[in-house]
Amino acid sequence: MSRTALVTGGSRGIGAAISVALKKAGFNVAANYAGNDEAASKFTAETGIKTYKWSVADYDACADGIAKVEAELGPVDVLVNNAGITRDAPFHRMSREQWMEVINTNLNGVFNMTHPLWNGMRERKFGRVITISSINGQKGQFAQANYSASKAGDLGFTKALAQEGARNGITVNAICPGYIATDMVMAVPEKVREGIIAQIPVGRLGEADEIARCVVFLASDEAGFITGSTISANGGQYFA
Ligand code: NDP
Repeated sequence: MSRTALVTGGSRGIGAAISVALKKAGFNVAANYAGNDEAASKFTAETGIKTYKWSVADYDACADGIAKVEAELGPVDVLVNNAGITRDAPFHRMSREQWMEVINTNLNGVFNMTHPLWNGMRERKFGRVITISSINGQKGQFAQANYSASKAGDLGFTKALAQEGARNGITVNAICPGYIATDMVMAVPEKVREGIIAQIPVGRLGEADEIARCVVFLASDEAGFITGSTISANGGQYFA
């Protein structure tokens, strides 16, 4: 019997690569997204993976969306908390809105998605919760007090919840990508991007597939002894 995986922000960028890799590995996959209908329809047409629109920042929308996915694909065994945004500004210019939007999506969104699924995973004695944090949650980043705080929060969440899930066959892990060639990073001005690449020991940006392969490993039944862990995939840029 195939297991079901739900990937937030699963129709673009790293999330799209994760959805496709999980499908290839034999999972039934549902890909959530926020609002880019065009990208979602294109993704479904190209991959056959169904997409579901709601904001992870809205608890009730998450509960409703999850219920719809489970009615169509069966209980969710693997949750990949991938949806994330940036609203960068140096702190002296950061607005309350920029702070709240990022916390609501990147940190509260992880609660909003994991909480409605948790009891089902406990009852079935199996679950995989995999959260895409960031190198900038490990080391901090200029003009990203909001983003770094949200991603560091994801790591604390992971370590705490791993302890609660352990006796029920649920593993909770995080992946901290370095700089990956997606829309988020390609939106950075070229000069800044060149500066970023110069600081990556392997001398290039990462590929979304390189993160997806880590997710497939953590999602597998064979990874049951790994919980509360953080996999850093950053081209040698930072060791934590
Ligand atoms: P992209 O901007 O390319 O894609 C983001 C995805 O998240 C989109 O599918 C988007 O949906 C979705 N999304 C955004 N907000 C919400 C929301 N409120 N509810 C549901 N879905 C939402 O991002 P990346 O692929 O680059 O990043 C994916 C994850 O990896 C993020 O958590 C990011 O912080 C993290 N990361 C990325 C790095 C990088 O170098 N790219 C480095 C380290 C971490 P829609 O298509 O509808 O807009």
